[in-house]
Amino acid sequence: MSAKIIDGKRLSQEVRGECQARAARLAEKGTQPGLAVVIVGDNPASIVYVRNKAKACSETGIYSEVHEFPENADQDEVIGRIQELNRNPGIHGILVQLPLPRHFDSSRVIESVAVEKDVDGFHLYNIGALVTGSSIFPPCTPNGVMKMLEKYDIPIEGQHAVIVGRSNIVGKPMALMLLQKGATVTICTSRTRNLSEHTSRADILIVAAGRPCLVTAMMVKPGATVIDVGINRLPDGKLAGDVDFESVKEKAGYITPVPGGVGPMTIAMLLCNTVVAAEQAHARLQGN
Ligand code: NAP
Repeated sequence: MSAKIIDGKRLSQEVRGECQARAARLAEKGTQPGLAVVIVGDNPASIVYVRNKAKACSETGIYSEVHEFPENADQDEVIGRIQELNRNPGIHGILVQLPLPRHFDSSRVIESVAVEKDVDGFHLYNIGALVTGSSIFPPCTPNGVMKMLEKYDIPIEGQHAVIVGRSNIVGKPMALMLLQKGATVTICTSRTRNLSEHTSRADILIVAAGRPCLVTAMMVKPGATVIDVGINRLPDGKLAGDVDFESVKEKAGYITPVPGGVGPMTIAMLLCNTVVAAEQAHARLQGN
């Protein structure tokens, strides 16, 4: 039997609709949510992501501005701009588009974002809060995955979740969020011996490795939920995930497509975090 497709595009529209309504209510009270995106260099993928984020903001009633720096920009100049944005009351969220050029210390730049404006959730404070289960701004991609599981009523508690990938932006926060919801979590990396031994035991399999077709049907338990975070550009220009969709969909219970799966959810969760940041700033202004 073919798996149910988790439709990230449709679900993201639903989430964006909720954000739009909340942004409109806030604007009526005098606070329009505002997001600043900082981009350094001319990485083509980053430029597309930034453009998509700005478009999504304008469709949701969120003000946005993009701060562009050349590839050879000085780190202190970029940090100086972030500090100005930290003080700007019209900006509620600040996002630094990653990756930064090699001569940058990415951690220092991320730590310069004010915690209450860290809508990407990458600041050490927010990561620490995630570890203790009290996250303010959960990182957008894993949070989008959690939203998908919730909206499709996929049980987490007591389930065995296997995550392929241990990056700071996807794999590790994903593991923490699933752990918080009571899953038994296994994390696999490029060093894991016999990957399929682990993946084939997963009730929920989340793949974020950046390796096209890494996961094939024989690596998946029948009826499992398979979430494909990977976005890979193939030589023919098409996008592909990390999962061999055609074969795995015949074995899984639920599966996300690429494109149209996790990607649109990531942007939707960024909009949510920006609206939450604006709501919190508004409440502070009111003295609540
Ligand atoms: P990353 O920083 O390159 O991390 C990749 C992880 O996968 C690493 O931990 C690596 O292990 C592991 N890995 C690589 N090859 C493996 C293999 N053969 N077996 C097991 N593990 C393997 O990448 P990332 O930033 O997490 O992104 C992962 C993918 O998700 C990329 O395709 C990226 O484009 C995509 N992505 C999508 C979204 C979205 O919105 N849909 C958002 C972010 C990222 P080691 O640590 O041992 O090297």
